[in-house]
Amino acid sequence: MVIDGMADRPLEELGYKTPLEAAKTPNMDKLAKTGICGIMDPIKPGIRAGSDTSHISILGYDPYQVYTGRGPFEAAGVGVDVLEGDIAFRCNFSTANDDGIIIDRRAGRIREGTDELAEAINSITLEDNTEIIFKESTGHRAVLVLRGKNLSDQVSAADPKYDGKKWTKVLALDDSKEAQKTAGILNEVVEKSYQILKDHPLNQKRLENGENPANIILPRGAGAVPHVQAFSDKYGLKGACIAETGLIKGIAKIVGMDIVDIEGATGGIDTNLGNIVQGILDTSSEDYDFLLINIDGADEAGHDGNTKDKLEFIQKADEVVGKLNAMEDFYFILTADHSTPISVKDHTGDPVPLVINGPEIRVDDVESFNERSASKGGLCRIRGSDIMNILMDLMNKSTKFGA
Ligand code: ZN
Ligand code: ZN
Repeated sequence: MVIDGMADRPLEELGYKTPLEAAKTPNMDKLAKTGICGIMDPIKPGIRAGSDTSHISILGYDPYQVYTGRGPFEAAGVGVDVLEGDIAFRCNFSTANDDGIIIDRRAGRIREGTDELAEAINSITLEDNTEIIFKESTGHRAVLVLRGKNLSDQVSAADPKYDGKKWTKVLALDDSKEAQKTAGILNEVVEKSYQILKDHPLNQKRLENGENPANIILPRGAGAVPHVQAFSDKYGLKGACIAETGLIKGIAKIVGMDIVDIEGATGGIDTNLGNIVQGILDTSSEDYDFLLINIDGADEAGHDGNTKDKLEFIQKADEVVGKLNAMEDFYFILTADHSTPISVKDHTGDPVPLVINGPEIRVDDVESFNERSASKGGLCRIRGSDIMNILMDLMNKSTKFGA
Protein backbone atom coordinates (compact mmCIF):
# COMPACT_ATOMS: atom_id res chain seq x y z
CA MET A 1 0.00 0.00 0.00
CA VAL A 2 1.41 3.28 -1.13
CA ILE A 3 0.25 6.45 0.57
CA ASP A 4 1.20 8.80 -2.22
CA GLY A 5 3.58 11.59 -1.22
CA MET A 6 3.10 10.90 2.50
CA ALA A 7 6.73 11.47 3.52
CA ASP A 8 7.86 15.00 4.32
CA ARG A 9 10.50 17.13 6.00
CA PRO A 10 10.43 18.57 9.55
CA LEU A 11 8.21 21.64 9.76
CA GLU A 12 8.68 24.56 12.13
CA GLU A 13 4.90 24.89 12.55
CA LEU A 14 4.79 21.28 13.80
CA GLY A 15 7.64 21.79 16.28
CA TYR A 16 10.09 20.39 13.73
CA LYS A 17 8.13 17.21 13.30
CA THR A 18 7.03 15.90 9.93
CA PRO A 19 3.27 15.61 9.29
CA LEU A 20 3.60 11.83 9.69
CA GLU A 21 5.41 12.31 13.00
CA ALA A 22 2.83 14.82 14.21
CA ALA A 23 -0.22 12.86 13.08
CA LYS A 24 -1.95 10.36 15.37
CA THR A 25 -1.43 7.07 13.56
CA PRO A 26 -2.05 4.23 16.02
CA ASN A 27 -2.63 1.65 13.31
CA MET A 28 0.52 2.44 11.37
CA ASP A 29 2.45 2.49 14.65
CA LYS A 30 1.10 -0.96 15.46
CA LEU A 31 2.40 -2.19 12.11
CA ALA A 32 5.80 -0.75 13.01
CA LYS A 33 5.77 -2.42 16.44
CA THR A 34 4.89 -5.82 15.01
CA GLY A 35 6.85 -5.56 11.77
CA ILE A 36 10.21 -4.71 10.29
CA CYS A 37 10.88 -1.10 9.28
CA GLY A 38 13.29 0.73 7.06
CA ILE A 39 13.59 3.64 4.72
CA MET A 40 13.47 3.44 0.97
CA ASP A 41 14.85 5.41 -1.94
CA PRO A 42 12.14 4.82 -4.53
CA ILE A 43 14.66 4.97 -7.39
CA LYS A 44 18.10 5.96 -6.03
CA PRO A 45 19.22 8.24 -3.19
CA GLY A 46 18.42 11.84 -4.03
CA ILE A 47 16.51 11.09 -7.22
CA ARG A 48 13.21 12.98 -7.26
CA ALA A 49 10.79 10.28 -8.34
CA GLY A 50 7.53 10.92 -10.11
CA SER A 51 4.61 8.81 -8.96
CA ASP A 52 4.89 6.87 -12.20
CA THR A 53 8.63 6.15 -12.18
CA SER A 54 8.48 5.30 -8.47
CA HIS A 55 5.70 2.76 -8.90
CA ILE A 56 7.50 1.23 -11.89
CA SER A 57 10.57 0.82 -9.67
CA ILE A 58 8.57 -0.55 -6.73
CA LEU A 59 7.09 -3.22 -9.01
CA GLY A 60 10.64 -4.25 -9.89
CA TYR A 61 10.95 -2.73 -13.35
CA ASP A 62 13.74 -0.35 -14.35
CA PRO A 63 12.13 3.07 -14.90
CA TYR A 64 15.13 4.17 -16.97
CA GLN A 65 14.24 1.45 -19.47
CA VAL A 66 10.46 1.30 -19.20
CA TYR A 67 9.53 4.96 -18.80
CA THR A 68 9.32 6.73 -22.17
CA GLY A 69 6.98 9.51 -21.05
CA ARG A 70 3.70 9.93 -19.27
CA GLY A 71 1.49 9.46 -22.33
CA PRO A 72 1.42 5.65 -22.52
CA PHE A 73 0.55 5.24 -18.83
CA GLU A 74 -2.17 7.90 -18.92
CA ALA A 75 -3.64 6.26 -22.02
CA ALA A 76 -3.65 2.80 -20.45
CA GLY A 77 -5.11 4.31 -17.28
CA VAL A 78 -8.20 5.64 -19.04
CA GLY A 79 -8.80 2.27 -20.61
CA VAL A 80 -7.12 2.44 -24.03
CA ASP A 81 -5.71 -0.99 -24.87
CA VAL A 82 -2.29 0.30 -25.82
CA LEU A 83 0.06 -1.93 -27.77
CA GLU A 84 3.84 -2.00 -27.79
CA GLY A 85 5.03 0.58 -30.33
CA ASP A 86 1.99 2.85 -30.06
CA ILE A 87 2.84 6.51 -29.56
CA ALA A 88 0.72 8.02 -26.78
CA PHE A 89 0.17 11.62 -25.70
CA ARG A 90 -1.60 13.43 -22.92
CA CYS A 91 -3.95 16.07 -24.29
CA ASN A 92 -5.94 19.03 -23.16
CA PHE A 93 -9.20 20.15 -24.63
CA SER A 94 -8.53 23.87 -25.00
CA THR A 95 -10.14 26.97 -26.42
CA ALA A 96 -8.57 28.55 -29.52
CA ASN A 97 -9.63 31.55 -31.56
CA ASP A 98 -9.51 31.68 -35.38
CA ASP A 99 -5.90 32.85 -35.29
CA GLY A 100 -4.88 29.75 -33.36
CA ILE A 101 -4.30 31.68 -30.15
CA ILE A 102 -5.09 29.57 -27.11
CA ILE A 103 -7.46 31.64 -24.99
CA ASP A 104 -8.05 28.97 -22.34
CA ARG A 105 -5.86 25.87 -22.04
CA ARG A 106 -8.53 24.11 -19.99
CA ALA A 107 -11.57 25.02 -22.09
CA GLY A 108 -13.48 26.55 -19.20
CA ARG A 109 -12.66 23.47 -17.13
CA ILE A 110 -15.17 21.53 -19.18
CA ARG A 111 -16.76 18.68 -17.20
CA GLU A 112 -19.37 17.14 -19.46
CA GLY A 113 -19.72 16.03 -23.04
CA THR A 114 -16.05 15.39 -23.74
CA ASP A 115 -17.00 11.84 -24.76
CA GLU A 116 -19.00 13.29 -27.67
CA LEU A 117 -16.07 15.49 -28.65
CA ALA A 118 -13.77 12.46 -28.45
CA GLU A 119 -16.04 10.60 -30.84
CA ALA A 120 -15.67 13.45 -33.32
CA ILE A 121 -11.87 13.35 -33.00
CA ASN A 122 -11.87 9.61 -33.61
CA SER A 123 -13.52 10.24 -36.97
CA ILE A 124 -10.39 12.04 -38.24
CA THR A 125 -8.67 10.03 -40.95
CA LEU A 126 -4.96 10.28 -41.63
CA GLU A 127 -2.87 9.42 -44.65
CA ASP A 128 -0.99 6.10 -44.83
CA ASN A 129 -3.42 4.43 -42.46
CA THR A 130 -2.05 5.73 -39.19
CA GLU A 131 -4.82 5.03 -36.71
CA ILE A 132 -6.07 7.60 -34.20
CA ILE A 133 -7.37 6.47 -30.84
CA PHE A 134 -8.60 9.38 -28.76
CA LYS A 135 -10.22 9.06 -25.35
CA GLU A 136 -11.46 11.60 -22.86
CA SER A 137 -10.19 11.49 -19.29
CA THR A 138 -11.37 13.59 -16.34
CA GLY A 139 -12.31 17.24 -16.89
CA HIS A 140 -10.47 18.89 -19.78
CA ARG A 141 -7.98 16.02 -20.03
CA ALA A 142 -7.75 13.37 -22.71
CA VAL A 143 -5.29 10.99 -24.33
CA LEU A 144 -4.28 10.49 -27.93
CA VAL A 145 -2.73 7.31 -29.27
CA LEU A 146 -1.22 6.97 -32.74
CA ARG A 147 -0.91 3.45 -34.07
CA GLY A 148 0.86 2.63 -37.30
CA LYS A 149 4.18 2.12 -39.00
CA ASN A 150 7.27 4.31 -38.75
CA LEU A 151 6.19 6.51 -35.87
CA SER A 152 8.38 8.08 -33.18
CA ASP A 153 7.93 9.65 -29.76
CA GLN A 154 10.72 12.14 -30.45
CA VAL A 155 8.34 15.04 -31.08
CA SER A 156 7.62 18.27 -29.23
CA ALA A 157 4.32 19.38 -27.67
CA ALA A 158 1.54 21.42 -29.26
CA ASP A 159 0.58 22.84 -25.89
CA PRO A 160 2.03 26.38 -25.50
CA LYS A 161 1.79 25.97 -21.68
CA TYR A 162 0.36 29.50 -21.22
CA ASP A 163 -2.87 31.14 -22.27
CA GLY A 164 -2.62 33.92 -24.84
CA LYS A 165 -0.06 32.16 -27.04
CA LYS A 166 -0.57 30.45 -30.37
CA TRP A 167 -0.55 26.65 -30.23
CA THR A 168 2.98 25.44 -30.84
CA LYS A 169 3.77 23.72 -34.09
CA VAL A 170 4.98 20.22 -33.29
CA LEU A 171 8.61 19.61 -34.29
CA ALA A 172 10.72 16.50 -34.70
CA LEU A 173 13.27 16.25 -31.90
CA ASP A 174 15.72 14.18 -33.93
CA ASP A 175 16.68 13.76 -37.59
CA SER A 176 14.77 10.55 -38.13
CA LYS A 177 12.13 10.20 -40.83
CA GLU A 178 9.85 8.71 -38.19
CA ALA A 179 9.98 11.82 -36.02
CA GLN A 180 9.38 14.08 -39.03
CA LYS A 181 6.41 12.00 -40.04
CA THR A 182 4.93 11.90 -36.53
CA ALA A 183 5.32 15.68 -36.11
CA GLY A 184 3.49 16.17 -39.42
CA ILE A 185 0.67 13.88 -38.31
CA LEU A 186 0.30 15.67 -35.00
CA ASN A 187 0.09 19.08 -36.63
CA GLU A 188 -2.56 17.68 -38.93
CA VAL A 189 -4.50 16.26 -35.97
CA VAL A 190 -4.39 19.57 -34.09
CA GLU A 191 -5.56 21.53 -37.13
CA LYS A 192 -8.28 19.05 -37.99
CA SER A 193 -9.44 18.97 -34.37
CA TYR A 194 -10.15 22.70 -34.56
CA GLN A 195 -12.01 22.29 -37.88
CA ILE A 196 -14.14 19.48 -36.45
CA LEU A 197 -14.74 20.85 -32.96
CA LYS A 198 -15.31 24.56 -33.55
CA ASP A 199 -18.82 24.01 -34.95
CA HIS A 200 -19.67 20.95 -32.87
CA PRO A 201 -23.17 21.28 -31.35
CA LEU A 202 -21.79 20.88 -27.86
CA ASN A 203 -19.48 23.84 -28.39
CA GLN A 204 -22.31 25.91 -29.91
CA LYS A 205 -24.19 25.29 -26.71
CA ARG A 206 -21.20 26.20 -24.57
CA LEU A 207 -20.86 29.48 -26.46
CA GLU A 208 -24.55 30.23 -25.94
CA ASN A 209 -24.06 29.60 -22.21
CA GLY A 210 -21.10 31.94 -22.11
CA GLU A 211 -18.65 29.07 -21.59
CA ASN A 212 -15.37 28.63 -23.40
CA PRO A 213 -15.74 26.02 -26.17
CA ALA A 214 -13.49 22.95 -26.16
CA ASN A 215 -12.53 23.46 -29.78
CA ILE A 216 -8.98 22.22 -30.11
CA ILE A 217 -6.86 19.39 -28.70
CA LEU A 218 -3.28 20.01 -27.66
CA PRO A 219 -1.07 16.92 -27.32
CA ARG A 220 2.03 16.77 -25.11
CA GLY A 221 4.09 14.21 -23.18
CA ALA A 222 4.78 11.86 -26.09
CA GLY A 223 5.88 8.36 -25.22
CA ALA A 224 6.20 5.08 -27.07
CA VAL A 225 4.40 2.22 -25.38
CA PRO A 226 7.29 0.16 -23.99
CA HIS A 227 7.85 -3.56 -24.03
CA VAL A 228 7.35 -4.80 -20.48
CA GLN A 229 7.33 -8.32 -19.16
CA ALA A 230 3.95 -9.09 -17.61
CA PHE A 231 3.94 -8.96 -13.81
CA SER A 232 2.44 -12.47 -13.74
CA ASP A 233 5.31 -13.85 -15.87
CA LYS A 234 7.97 -12.01 -13.92
CA TYR A 235 6.82 -13.16 -10.48
CA GLY A 236 4.25 -15.89 -11.02
CA LEU A 237 1.78 -13.75 -9.06
CA LYS A 238 -1.69 -12.71 -10.16
CA GLY A 239 -1.92 -9.00 -9.42
CA ALA A 240 -4.65 -6.42 -9.12
CA CYS A 241 -4.47 -2.68 -8.58
CA ILE A 242 -6.67 -0.39 -6.56
CA ALA A 243 -5.67 3.17 -7.36
CA GLU A 244 -7.32 6.52 -7.80
CA THR A 245 -5.38 8.19 -10.56
CA GLY A 246 -5.21 7.15 -14.20
CA LEU A 247 -1.43 7.32 -14.05
CA ILE A 248 -1.08 4.55 -11.45
CA LYS A 249 -3.88 2.48 -12.98
CA GLY A 250 -2.08 2.81 -16.31
CA ILE A 251 1.17 1.46 -14.90
CA ALA A 252 -0.66 -1.50 -13.41
CA LYS A 253 -2.46 -2.09 -16.67
CA ILE A 254 0.70 -1.95 -18.78
CA VAL A 255 2.28 -4.65 -16.57
CA GLY A 256 -0.88 -6.70 -16.99
CA MET A 257 -2.59 -6.36 -13.62
CA ASP A 258 -6.35 -6.22 -13.26
CA ILE A 259 -7.70 -2.78 -12.39
CA VAL A 260 -10.37 -2.42 -9.72
CA ASP A 261 -12.31 0.81 -10.12
CA ILE A 262 -13.60 2.39 -6.94
CA GLU A 263 -16.63 4.63 -6.95
CA GLY A 264 -16.00 8.00 -5.37
CA ALA A 265 -12.22 7.68 -5.54
CA THR A 266 -11.22 11.21 -6.49
CA GLY A 267 -7.50 11.15 -5.83
CA GLY A 268 -7.98 14.11 -3.51
CA ILE A 269 -8.43 14.59 0.22
CA ASP A 270 -12.20 14.33 -0.32
CA THR A 271 -11.95 10.79 -1.68
CA ASN A 272 -14.27 8.04 -0.49
CA LEU A 273 -11.94 6.03 1.74
CA GLY A 274 -14.81 3.81 2.91
CA ASN A 275 -15.31 2.57 -0.64
CA ILE A 276 -11.57 2.09 -1.02
CA VAL A 277 -11.45 -0.08 2.12
CA GLN A 278 -14.39 -2.14 0.88
CA GLY A 279 -12.73 -2.48 -2.52
CA ILE A 280 -9.52 -3.75 -0.90
CA LEU A 281 -11.38 -6.26 1.29
CA ASP A 282 -13.51 -7.50 -1.62
CA THR A 283 -10.55 -7.83 -3.97
CA SER A 284 -8.38 -9.57 -1.38
CA SER A 285 -11.02 -12.26 -1.02
CA GLU A 286 -10.78 -12.95 -4.74
CA ASP A 287 -8.20 -15.08 -6.45
CA TYR A 288 -5.26 -12.65 -6.35
CA ASP A 289 -1.74 -13.09 -4.99
CA PHE A 290 -0.76 -9.43 -4.99
CA LEU A 291 -2.56 -6.13 -4.55
CA LEU A 292 -1.07 -2.76 -5.37
CA ILE A 293 -2.95 -0.03 -3.52
CA ASN A 294 -2.37 3.68 -4.01
CA ILE A 295 -4.14 6.41 -2.06
CA ASP A 296 -3.41 9.87 -3.36
CA GLY A 297 -4.71 12.59 -1.00
CA ALA A 298 -1.53 13.25 1.00
CA ASP A 299 0.33 14.06 -2.20
CA GLU A 300 -2.31 16.58 -3.21
CA ALA A 301 -2.08 18.29 0.18
CA GLY A 302 1.71 18.32 -0.16
CA HIS A 303 1.54 19.96 -3.58
CA ASP A 304 -0.86 22.52 -2.12
CA GLY A 305 1.50 23.17 0.79
CA ASN A 306 -1.40 22.53 3.17
CA THR A 307 -0.06 21.13 6.46
CA LYS A 308 -3.45 20.70 8.11
CA ASP A 309 -4.91 18.80 5.16
CA LYS A 310 -1.88 16.58 4.87
CA LEU A 311 -1.85 15.73 8.57
CA GLU A 312 -5.57 15.02 8.62
CA PHE A 313 -5.41 12.90 5.50
CA ILE A 314 -2.59 10.83 6.97
CA GLN A 315 -4.80 10.20 10.01
CA LYS A 316 -7.61 9.07 7.71
CA ALA A 317 -5.20 6.80 5.84
CA ASP A 318 -4.27 5.37 9.23
CA GLU A 319 -7.91 4.40 9.77
CA VAL A 320 -7.85 2.62 6.41
CA VAL A 321 -4.80 0.65 7.58
CA GLY A 322 -6.68 -0.23 10.78
CA LYS A 323 -9.63 -1.62 8.86
CA LEU A 324 -7.44 -4.02 6.91
CA ASN A 325 -6.55 -5.94 10.06
CA ALA A 326 -9.34 -8.37 9.25
CA MET A 327 -7.27 -9.73 6.40
CA GLU A 328 -5.27 -12.84 7.32
CA ASP A 329 -2.18 -14.69 6.21
CA PHE A 330 -0.64 -12.08 4.01
CA TYR A 331 2.33 -9.76 3.87
CA PHE A 332 1.49 -6.12 4.21
CA ILE A 333 3.91 -3.45 3.04
CA LEU A 334 3.13 0.16 3.83
CA THR A 335 5.19 2.92 2.28
CA ALA A 336 5.09 6.08 0.18
CA ASP A 337 6.19 6.53 -3.42
CA HIS A 338 8.19 9.70 -2.68
CA SER A 339 8.20 12.65 -0.32
CA THR A 340 6.01 15.63 -1.20
CA PRO A 341 7.19 18.13 1.43
CA ILE A 342 4.85 20.95 2.39
CA SER A 343 7.79 23.36 2.18
CA VAL A 344 8.64 22.35 -1.40
CA LYS A 345 5.13 21.70 -2.79
CA ASP A 346 6.63 19.10 -5.09
CA HIS A 347 8.34 15.72 -4.92
CA THR A 348 11.81 15.53 -3.42
CA GLY A 349 14.45 12.82 -3.34
CA ASP A 350 14.26 12.23 0.42
CA PRO A 351 13.85 8.56 1.33
CA VAL A 352 10.44 7.35 2.54
CA PRO A 353 9.53 5.14 5.49
CA LEU A 354 8.60 1.53 4.92
CA VAL A 355 7.22 -1.28 7.07
CA ILE A 356 6.63 -4.95 6.30
CA ASN A 357 4.28 -7.09 8.37
CA GLY A 358 3.49 -10.75 8.03
CA PRO A 359 4.45 -14.31 8.95
CA GLU A 360 8.00 -15.00 10.17
CA ILE A 361 9.06 -11.36 10.02
CA ARG A 362 12.18 -10.47 12.02
CA VAL A 363 10.46 -7.84 14.14
CA ASP A 364 12.75 -4.94 15.05
CA ASP A 365 12.67 -2.36 17.85
CA VAL A 366 10.88 0.42 15.97
CA GLU A 367 7.75 1.50 17.83
CA SER A 368 6.21 4.15 15.58
CA PHE A 369 5.85 4.62 11.85
CA ASN A 370 7.49 7.75 10.48
CA GLU A 371 10.45 8.95 8.48
CA ARG A 372 12.92 9.08 11.37
CA SER A 373 11.94 6.10 13.52
CA ALA A 374 11.70 3.80 10.47
CA SER A 375 15.31 4.63 9.63
CA LYS A 376 16.36 2.69 12.74
CA GLY A 377 14.60 -0.48 11.56
CA GLY A 378 15.89 -3.84 10.50
CA LEU A 379 15.48 -3.27 6.79
CA CYS A 380 17.87 -0.31 6.99
CA ARG A 381 17.90 1.61 3.72
CA ILE A 382 16.65 -0.10 0.58
CA ARG A 383 15.60 0.91 -2.91
CA GLY A 384 12.17 0.64 -4.46
CA SER A 385 13.49 -2.05 -6.77
CA ASP A 386 14.34 -4.23 -3.72
CA ILE A 387 10.75 -4.55 -2.53
CA MET A 388 9.54 -7.32 -4.83
CA ASN A 389 12.73 -9.35 -4.22
CA ILE A 390 12.24 -9.07 -0.45
CA LEU A 391 8.57 -9.96 -0.76
CA MET A 392 9.22 -12.93 -3.05
CA ASP A 393 11.84 -14.19 -0.60
CA LEU A 394 9.52 -13.85 2.38
CA MET A 395 6.86 -15.75 0.45
CA ASN A 396 9.40 -18.49 -0.34
CA LYS A 397 8.76 -17.92 -4.02
CA SER A 398 12.17 -16.73 -5.19
CA THR A 399 14.67 -18.92 -6.99
CA LYS A 400 18.11 -19.50 -5.54
CA PHE A 401 21.07 -17.74 -7.12
CA GLY A 402 23.91 -20.27 -7.20
CA ALA A 403 24.30 -23.73 -5.70
ZN1 ZN B 1 3.22 9.95 -6.03
ZN1 ZN C 1 2.69 14.42 -6.68
